[in-house]
Order: sequence, then C-alpha cells, then structure tokens
Amino acid sequence: MSNINAEQASSLAKYFYRLAEQSQDVFWFKSKDYSEQIYISPAFEEIWGISCQSLYDDPSLWITAMHPEDRERLQHDCSSRTAPMPAGEIIEKNYRIVRPDESIRWIKDTSFGLFDGSGNCFAYAGTCKDVSKDVLHRQELQNEKIKAELANQAKADFLAKMSHEFRTPLNAILGISQIMATKNLTPEMQEYVNLINQSGQNLASFVNDILDFAKLEIGELSFSSDPIDLHLLASQVMNSFSYQASEANIKLKLDYAASVPKLVIGDAKRIRQILTNLLSNAMKFTDEGMINLSVTCKKQNDHLGVFHVSVQDTGIGISENNFKFIFEKFGQVPSTHQRRHQGTGLGLSIVKELVERVGGTVSVESTFGKGSTFSFTMPLQLQDSMLENLLPANMKSAKPDLPQQKLNLNLLLVEDNITNQKIAKIMLEGIGCEVDIVNNGEEALSRLRHTHAYDTILMDIGLPDMDGYEVANMIRKNDLFKKIPIIAMTAHAIECDKQKCLTSGMNDVIIKPIPYETLYETLRACNA
Ligand code: ADP
Repeated sequence: MSNINAEQASSLAKYFYRLAEQSQDVFWFKSKDYSEQIYISPAFEEIWGISCQSLYDDPSLWITAMHPEDRERLQHDCSSRTAPMPAGEIIEKNYRIVRPDESIRWIKDTSFGLFDGSGNCFAYAGTCKDVSKDVLHRQELQNEKIKAELANQAKADFLAKMSHEFRTPLNAILGISQIMATKNLTPEMQEYVNLINQSGQNLASFVNDILDFAKLEIGELSFSSDPIDLHLLASQVMNSFSYQASEANIKLKLDYAASVPKLVIGDAKRIRQILTNLLSNAMKFTDEGMINLSVTCKKQNDHLGVFHVSVQDTGIGISENNFKFIFEKFGQVPSTHQRRHQGTGLGLSIVKELVERVGGTVSVESTFGKGSTFSFTMPLQLQDSMLENLLPANMKSAKPDLPQQKLNLNLLLVEDNITNQKIAKIMLEGIGCEVDIVNNGEEALSRLRHTHAYDTILMDIGLPDMDGYEVANMIRKNDLFKKIPIIAMTAHAIECDKQKCLTSGMNDVIIKPIPYETLYETLRACNA
C-alpha cells in the first residue's frame, strides 16, 4: 500500500471515476450477492448495446445478454455467489454476448472481491474488455492455417497419386529394358534398349524430384543413419554416369585421397541422391571436357569429420547474378539453358535442403562459358574400421553379374496389377527364382496354408481386399509362417512408411520402379 492520506485518496477516487467514465473498457461494481448493480461505466452501452439504466433496473440483464452456450457454462458463477471470493484472488472469464441487434462480441471479464477492514467481502468489482477483434483475428489466422494445411495435404496427396501413376508404367519400362539388356542383342538393338532405359531413368529421377519436393513441403522427409563406405558410394554414383559420359566423350574423374576417411555413418540414400543430382546437372550442362568429383575431409576429432565434396565441370557455366536464384525452388537460368535442357528446376533446391538438414552448406563457383563447381560440406560421424563388416551388402561389393549368380529361391508374389505381375515374374525368373502369383491377401493366406515352403513373400501394399500391412500381420500370426521373409514392394513412395512395414512384420521395402540390383540384393540379404 502506498502512503497517501485521506484527502489524496479522495482526489484519486475522483480521478479513477473519470478514468472509468472515459475508458473504452467497462468498469463495474456489484453487490456481494450479485443482486444489485452498484456501478457500470458508460462503455457498457457501446459494447452491450444496452443502456446502463436498464442494467441498474434489472441486473439479471447481464446474464440474459450472454451467449446461451457461455451462459450455461458460467451461470452458476454469475447469478449468485454463495461463497465469497478469497481476498487477493482475481478471476478471469471469457464469454460471448449477444447484442440486441443479434451481433456477437467476445468479452474478457476480470473481477475480484472488495473487503472491509475486518476482512469481510462487501462487493465485487471488475473490468470488461471487448476482445472481439483479437478473437476474430486469431480465428482468421487459424482458419488460414487450416486452409494452408489442407491445401498442402491435397497437393502432397495429388503428387503422391501422380507419382504412383508414373511409377507403375515406369516399372514396366525399366524392368523390361533391364531384362532385355541381359539378352544377346545386336549392337543396334542394344543401343535402342539403352535409350529406353536411359529415358526411363530420367523420368524416374524426375518423379523422385517431384516426390521429394512434396515431402519437403509437408515436412515428411526423414534421414537414416547407415554405415557407409563413402569412397565406394562415390565411385558407384560416378560409375552410373560412365556410359552416358563415354557416349558424350566427357572424361569422369574421382579424387578421393587415401588419407580421407571412408567409413562413415550417414544416410546413404540421401548422399547418393545429392551426388546424383550434382553429377547429372554437370552432365546436362557440359558438352565437352571433364567432370571431376572430389572428396576431402577436415577431421574434427576421432568421431566426426566435415566432408567437403565438389563436382567440377567444364560446361556452359553460370553468370554470378544467377548463383542465388538457382538454389531456389523451380529456379532455372533462363535463355540458353531452357532451350537446350529439360528439367524441373527442383534438383538444386532439394540438394540444398537435404544438405542443410544435416548441418551442411552448399555453394557454387562458376565462370560463364567456362564451367562450374558445385560444392557442399557435410558433417558425418566417422566409423571404426572394425565395423566394416556391418556395411550393407551393396556397400561391400561391386554390382553383381546378375544372370550368372542365380538365387534359386521359391517365391510367393502378392500383386494385383497384371503388368507388375508379369514384370516381377520375368525379373525374378531372370535371377533364377520360381514364382507363384496371387492377386490379393485372401488368396495369399490360402496359398500359404497349402504350401508353406516359400523362401520369401513379395508383398504389394495397395491390394484390393486388405492392404499389404494387414496381410503381413495375419501371416505373422501363424507360427508356421513366422520366419518367411516378407518384402514390401510399393509404388506409393510417400505413403509407404518403412517403419509401418517393419511393425506389421515385414523385413524390408523396395520402391517401384524396382532396379534389378535392388531386387537381387534385397532377396539375397533376406535369405543369407
Ligand atoms: P534442373 O536441372 O532440373 O533445371 P536444378 O535445380 O538441378 O534444376 O538446376 C537449376 C538450374 O541451375 C538449371 O536449370 C541450370 O540453369 C543451372 N545449373 C545447375 N547445374 C548447372 C551446371 N553444372 N552448369 C550450368 N548450369 C547449371
């Protein structure tokens, strides 16, 4: 309490009265049983649309003016007070009122008890603020957020559907061309097949870009921690461009010094994707000369290294004013580029996002007409060489000579799409497997009950009766089939959740279009 005398207190009361009379907020006093309105300030008329005199005449108007839903919630509190509010307690209530013209306002009401010298509550006082503008603003923001989320989800659903539609025919194009490439073809035919395969792969990478873009938009892109031989991974990606490079007469070179650590922990798929993106750009924009992939590392300590990876080309180059722009979504250098090359303009923005998500940075140096160097840094955990044997199969050996290493497995394929059935059968038979095909979950379960001697079950996720997760779940419930490996095969790259596949009892997932090596390696690993 401040030290003021009675005279000062009386002047202050007058000031407070003037403040209450002028304020846009409502000041009020009520008797201790709420039956009498002792004072209401003029702002009440403006907010409630009811005269102050009517409230003095009938204090229950306060309650009848409340929105019915809020009245019900607060009635007990407002109509009569049996127990007084403890001294010092401040009560805050939020409610709506319905004005005589039926418009609604939102009120924030703050009240407290007034106590005499003996500590007895003799009245209540409070203020009411019209917070309608804030509430409406919050509701608008909330509605906009919901709308944006729904639009984002709709966009992601659309892209997922579109990618599914693309993947199914792509599976056929890539699958069949890979099978044909293993046959004895004339050089001319071999070239045609290579062209079909190359175009299919370009389309597949386009679909992947769109899909990753959608995942980034809805914040669904996840990263795994795999043991990786980074040197092997870099050379595998480099090798995947060797045919294209030799056709274009471009030299490919990999600089990976012996002193640079090889064994790391990171997301192999994402690193492969970043390298593939940069190298495929270098290929696209280089007509002659060379492309150099170089990897160096600054060791932070025994467990962490910051890797610096650069892809240098002798291509058409980019002028400096376009450097920032090309890392933005859909950012493409106009003029010459677009006329000469196709693309989505998403690749570099995805690279940037992926690199930054794991704590790295991207940069570019380029001279227009002379060539470009795209670089990124990436911190990666270093692995002990003792852990080398933990590397996944595709990280240990070079690409297998598929037709010579037959797998001899007896497989059950659960797939409803006739084209996919045919391709999978040809691919699987090509690697020495025998395949029984069923069209849905019910048939799969009944086939298993008659023949339980399958080495592996290949399971489509989007089946007509029950989905692949459910079928796997039911298979795992039967002790006889508990140990048969189940591999999910799906074209729904967004919706397919690897964790969900594992939880439902499956052992691995492969995404369509299925590369021959992936199919081969996954089956081999599951039956090792
Ligand atoms: P896309 O290649 O599909 O157009 P990117 O995001 O990968 O999309 O690349 C964006 C743009 O950056 C390209 O369209 C091109 O203009 C430019 N660019 C990327 N890499 C190179 C490069 N190595 N040389 C010259 N220009 C490049």
